[in-house]
Amino acid sequence: MLPVNIKKQGVLFMNINKNYQNVSESYLFSTVAKKVNEFAAANPNKKIIRLGIGDVTLPLCKAVVDAIKSAADEMGIKETFRGYGPEQGYDFLKTKLQDYYKSHNIELDLDEIFISDGAKSDLGNILDLFDVNNTVLVPDPVYPVYVDTNVMAGRKVVYVNANADNDFLPLPPSDVKADIIYLCSPNNPTGAVYNKEQLKAWVDYANVNHAVILFDSAYECFITDENLPRSIFEIEGAKTCAIEFCSLSKTAGFTGTRCGYTVVPKTLEFDGVKLNKMWLRRQTTKFNGVPYIIQRGAEAVFTPIGQKEIQENLSYYKENAKIISETLKKHNIWHIGGKHSPYIWLRCPNNMTSWEFFDYLLENVQIVGTPGSGFGNNGEGYFRLTSFGSRENTIEACERLDKFLG
Ligand code: PLP
Repeated sequence: MLPVNIKKQGVLFMNINKNYQNVSESYLFSTVAKKVNEFAAANPNKKIIRLGIGDVTLPLCKAVVDAIKSAADEMGIKETFRGYGPEQGYDFLKTKLQDYYKSHNIELDLDEIFISDGAKSDLGNILDLFDVNNTVLVPDPVYPVYVDTNVMAGRKVVYVNANADNDFLPLPPSDVKADIIYLCSPNNPTGAVYNKEQLKAWVDYANVNHAVILFDSAYECFITDENLPRSIFEIEGAKTCAIEFCSLSKTAGFTGTRCGYTVVPKTLEFDGVKLNKMWLRRQTTKFNGVPYIIQRGAEAVFTPIGQKEIQENLSYYKENAKIISETLKKHNIWHIGGKHSPYIWLRCPNNMTSWEFFDYLLENVQIVGTPGSGFGNNGEGYFRLTSFGSRENTIEACERLDKFLG
């Protein structure tokens, strides 16, 4: 036994992962909440409308609820009870996803599809497969998870500028050799969507530089133009450089139910090692699968009735986005998104900063959005509104805006 006082002097303390100290505090949503709470306390009679929410508000569709209930019943009967399932997901769900991809002309083997408890977990967990010395390329502004998960692991992050000049759709930089590239299309926070030519430029860059693209397609279900790619695998060459992460959170309201999927092609190989095999090893070691009941609910999303029902919800959000976009258009407020995305990304009028515009909207029309500066340096001067509110509130918010700006 070593003397206690040596321990007390800190000599033998276990080393923590100090990279966590480099993760910047996320003040964005806590500051929004604090400002809104203070305003509400000072103005109890004023109705505040939240158009900043990133969570869905419509409930699960009937087909999903029925499937979940019936799976729960199965779990209560000895003959149909199920214990541990396959870590990478049940074939009944993977087959549905395989068919879904096939409907967009993408052929996948079942063992290229991995079911998860959502895109966020997989986006973080995938980093287990990569060396800490890799250079990570991330667009700015960005979904903060891409940056924070890499900073936690001690990786170097470099940025590619997304701005009004490139319609917030940056192309590969000629002066950076990246190893891990994050792309999100339709994008959070900007709502911008890459076309096939633009994605092809990224795929070519990745193949030439032996880099991997981590493609986040969490909002693919909002795309209505058949010419816009819903999946990176619509692009020739992607199966040798890309992994795709998708989620049922926004597609079918699974934010609280938790189910997503990740596609790792078997042709994806670096240093003679197949990433599909590595990911399978990682998942079977560290993950025990998504609950059977939830996977049955997810399966129902991909039935004809499920598709019809989720489309009704998606149309509802899209109509909200249209209402917001038309109001902004009427007042000549520059914005993108809202068409193939639940997000509307607008330039703050009169050169206001993101937080100035936040205060301006809250104080004058009691509308809450999300300051763009919270998503990166290039977000300064921009603002994110979402279409996930109720129709009634969206209309009321737009009427207030219209009147005030008018
Ligand atoms: N990717 C993006 C771009 C998101 O905006 C979100 C959630 O807001 C996620 C992933 C997380 O998805 P999930 O709920 O499946 O973890």
